[in-house]
Amino acid sequence: MSASSLAPRVVSVTPDSPAAAVGLRAGDAIVRINGRVPRDVIEWRLWTDEADVTLDVQRSGLELELDVRKAEGQPLGAEVSSAVFDRVRTCDNHCEFCFIYQLPKGLRRSLYLKDDDYRLSFLYGNFTTLTRFTEADLERVVTENLSPLHVSIHSTDPALRARMLRNERGATSLRWLRALLDHGIEVRGQVVVCPGVNDCRALDDTLAGVLDEYPELSALAVVPLGVSRFNPEQAMRPHTSTEAGAVVDAVEDWQEVYAAALGRRLVHAADEYYLLAERPFPPADRYEGFTMHEDGVGMARTFELEFEGQSGDVTGPQRGFFAAADTASLPRNPAAYTALRSAAATAPVVLRPSRQAPVAILTGELGAKVVAPLVDRLARPDVRIVPVRNDFFGGNTGVTGLMTGPDLARVLADQPTSHRYLLPDVCLSDDGHFLDGSSVEDLPRPVEVVATDGHALRAALLCS
Ligand code: SF4
Repeated sequence: MSASSLAPRVVSVTPDSPAAAVGLRAGDAIVRINGRVPRDVIEWRLWTDEADVTLDVQRSGLELELDVRKAEGQPLGAEVSSAVFDRVRTCDNHCEFCFIYQLPKGLRRSLYLKDDDYRLSFLYGNFTTLTRFTEADLERVVTENLSPLHVSIHSTDPALRARMLRNERGATSLRWLRALLDHGIEVRGQVVVCPGVNDCRALDDTLAGVLDEYPELSALAVVPLGVSRFNPEQAMRPHTSTEAGAVVDAVEDWQEVYAAALGRRLVHAADEYYLLAERPFPPADRYEGFTMHEDGVGMARTFELEFEGQSGDVTGPQRGFFAAADTASLPRNPAAYTALRSAAATAPVVLRPSRQAPVAILTGELGAKVVAPLVDRLARPDVRIVPVRNDFFGGNTGVTGLMTGPDLARVLADQPTSHRYLLPDVCLSDDGHFLDGSSVEDLPRPVEVVATDGHALRAALLCS
């Protein structure tokens, strides 16, 4: 493979930018920056931030050298096509609960990529187990201050962690977590709980282990495993409601312990646990800034605050879970897709029926439990929720972000024409495709795509 085939390609050049001034064009391959081969978009941004930038570019088989003169820190004005140029580092684990092993065949290839790459952890919030982390990686993370990172803990018991990852290195790789914290890197942790494996006593031991060994963690999300109908592992099953309640109890007990010892609660249970246990969500201040929002922790509460106009801003980074999937891979645990929200208010789609028409909000079965009480408070008989059962993935995949075209088509086919159908954008890629590859144009009713946050839903309903 030639150097240029791995080199990043320019996808856009901002008019009147330094890049435009030297004639950089979309389609150009960036082979070197100031004589160095960039490995990822982090280096791309860092190196093109310099004042004098020499780009070795390949265009239609020709090598060009472009000299950019600009102020240090001034953006170059060009975007490149991918996040990692020298191949994503894949994981060497074989976790029983990995959702990638539970995907049906035939989805696009990028969804099957098991990444365990600290760069994607920094760029997209993907979780890394650190089993392939090295001394050189640590040096780079510290030197370039790649913070925060997101680390899968699962258990602080070395033997149990190795068993869960099905990798001996799982027993020792948390030494890198200690090293990252020692160097002042912010780390957010995650525990995926599998019933009968690391719940109950094992979960208590893990939360005690975190307090003992990693108290500097900025936050810790406790999330349930996702189980699809393609799950090949007999031992993996969804939580019962009682088990979910026990997880909530354990987390809330430990919050008190952490608060007494550290002055902050640190650990939080995913929204999905509260829904499954039929418990009310904690008040907003319990979430301590909603640090783990993108992991399905506190999304329901922030959605409510936004919808009721009690929160000025949309919480958390505005991008969908596809943001990582399209450049690298699908996040490993569907709890993260509880994502009631996502990317910027992307292109509104299409063919709107009359504003006076009744409105239907399409949402996953779990999302419906969150949105229904909010809509009830509006006392609007013209607004209804249409829960979409997930037959495509099956299992316990009731989250909105995993809704697919076939399930939506099935549900919409039974709905009246000329109503308005609001579709949360969290289930769509930036180019308007569902996980199964179909698009909104394939649905039997026109839909309006709305950003998946409370402000956007409220605004869409006020238009009626
Ligand atoms: S869950 Fe993550 S670490 Fe485990 S096998 Fe899947 S990709 Fe690898």
